[in-house]
Amino acid sequence: MSLLQQKIDVLDKGWVQLDDVMPHPASGRTCDHAIVAAARQSVGGRGKTPDRERIHSMMRRHHTSPFERVTLTFIVRCPIFVARQWMRHRTWSYNELSMRYTALDQVDYYVPDAWRAQSATDKQGSEGSVEYDVGAYREAVERSVACYQTMIEAGMAREMARIVLPVSVYTQFAGTVNAHNLMHFLKLRMSSDAQYEIRLYAITMYVHFFRPLLPWTSEAFEQYVLIGPEYDEVRQYIAAHT
Ligand SMILES: Cc1cc2nc3c(=O)[nH]c(=O)nc-3n(C[C@H](O)[C@H](O)[C@H](O)COP(=O)(O)OP(=O)(O)OC[C@H]3O[C@@H](n4cnc5c(N)ncnc54)[C@H](O)[C@@H]3O)c2cc1C
Repeated sequence: MSLLQQKIDVLDKGWVQLDDVMPHPASGRTCDHAIVAAARQSVGGRGKTPDRERIHSMMRRHHTSPFERVTLTFIVRCPIFVARQWMRHRTWSYNELSMRYTALDQVDYYVPDAWRAQSATDKQGSEGSVEYDVGAYREAVERSVACYQTMIEAGMAREMARIVLPVSVYTQFAGTVNAHNLMHFLKLRMSSDAQYEIRLYAITMYVHFFRPLLPWTSEAFEQYVLIGPEYDEVRQYIAAHT
């Protein structure tokens, strides 16, 4: 089955879908070969290094521009707080669902499986778990959602009504990025110090889309970049899903 249009579930109500890729699979040219072809520009089409080795060598020596030859577009459904972290990555091009334009018929929000406790050592991090009544959380969010709906029904502008919604509400956007910048995103966001929720999106994209589309590039990426214990979870996910 083609990877294009495949939708992989992430979190409780989110997903990520590969919408487009260049080179397109129908062209008969693989993404890894497009990267090698870009690298051959540097040597006037010559060069005897086998293709797979050439990719390893470029990854090792940070010869990054050939990886920009491949472009991917994803459609993502994620909570607003995940989208905020994601959109700090300026090398992507984004189009997000406009809540000024469209009122949400159904407002979905993220309900975590467990509440993580504040990390004692990392001020931005979490560890272990803490007891908290999920009912209290649901009640607070649903009150906001109900208020949003009454504001819309009262004829309030969508751009105003949306301000009552919390960052746990799901949004949807399309993001286009080249393979070089995507690897930078994956390196930062698959690492154990990234927040669990965005980490799950990054790992899903890597394992279900990037790896099968760019097997030689992924092999080199894992060998030279995804090293260290901060990527143990990625290795475990790969072992469980391939
Ligand atoms: C674990 C973690 C914690 C974080 N915590 C915070 C936080 O507390 N507060 C916060 O505000 N942000 C935080 N961030 C976001 C972080 O500071 C970056 O904004 C985000 O990760 C995007 O990284 P980037 O700039 O390298 O990526 P991109 O925007 O994709 O840029 C890729 C690369 O292009 C170059 N580049 C792009 N634009 C410019 C530019 N205008 N000037 C110079 N070089 C440029 C840089 O080399 C950059 O590395 C955190 C990120 C992570 C992963």
